[in-house]
Amino acid sequence: TSLHSLLTVSGLTAAYGRVVALRDVSLDVGEGEIVAILGANGAGKTTLLNAISGVLAPQSGTVTFAGGQIAGMKPWAISRLGMSHVPEGREIFPGLSVEANLGLIDFDGGGPKFALEDVVALFPRLGERLHQLAGSLSGGEQQMLAIGRGLMAAPKLVLFDEPSLGLSPMLSKAVLAAIRGLKERGISVLLVEQNMRAALKIADRGYVLRVGRITAEGSARELAESPDIQHAYLGL
Ligand code: ATP
Repeated sequence: TSLHSLLTVSGLTAAYGRVVALRDVSLDVGEGEIVAILGANGAGKTTLLNAISGVLAPQSGTVTFAGGQIAGMKPWAISRLGMSHVPEGREIFPGLSVEANLGLIDFDGGGPKFALEDVVALFPRLGERLHQLAGSLSGGEQQMLAIGRGLMAAPKLVLFDEPSLGLSPMLSKAVLAAIRGLKERGISVLLVEQNMRAALKIADRGYVLRVGRITAEGSARELAESPDIQHAYLGL
C-alpha cells in the first residue's frame, strides 16, 4: 500500500496439532485503513485474527505492529501496544454491569482516546443500560459492549471477528456504521465478516482467504465486482 503500514503479517503459518489452518499468509493494514478478510466457513479467518492478536501462537512467520515484532507475544502484552481484538464470542463478563465491563481496561494503547461518554455516544443503547448486568443484554447489545470495551483501550488497530453475526439487519447496520466511524477517528480496522456485501461497503481493501491461504486481494470495489470472489466466498 501507499499508506504507512501499521500491521504487516508475513508468511504466517498456524496449526492445531497436525491440522494446518493458515499457510504462509501475508497481508498489511495501513494507518487509517479498513481491511476486510473474506472467506467461507472454515477458511481460517478466526485463526488468522487469533494468530495476529496472540490468542494463538503462530508456527512461523512474522507480525509487525506499530514498528515492533509481536509474533509469539501474549495477548495482554499485544493489547497494551494498541491492538484490540473483539472476538466472535464477544467475551464480556456477564456477572458485571455494563459500566463495570467498560471500566475494566486500565491501560492506554496509544491511539485515539475513548471515554465512557464516547462509547455511549457511539452506542446510545449502552448508555440506557449502564447499570444492567452484561449477561442480561441482548446479543446485539453485547456486541456493542464488546466493541466499546475494545475502544476503551485507546487502540490504534481493532480486529473484529464477524461483528454483525446474529444481529438484525438494523443492528448490523448500526454496528458497521460505528466501525466506519472509527476510521474517521483515525483508528485502523481489520474486519472479518460473513456478510461480504456489508464488509466491502465499509472496507477500503480486502483479502480472500481460502483453506488457509490468501487467494486474492484488491480494492473493495475490485473484490465486489469479481465473479471469482463470489466463488471463493461460497467455497465452490
Ligand atoms: P467460520 O467462518 O466458520 O468461523 P473461519 O474462517 O473463522 O470459519 P477458523 O475457525 O479459523 O475458520 O477454522 C479454520 C480451520 O481450523 C477449520 O478447518 C477448523 O476446523 C480448524 N480449527 C479451528 N479451531 C480449531 C481447534 N481449536 N482445534 C482444531 N482445529 C481447529
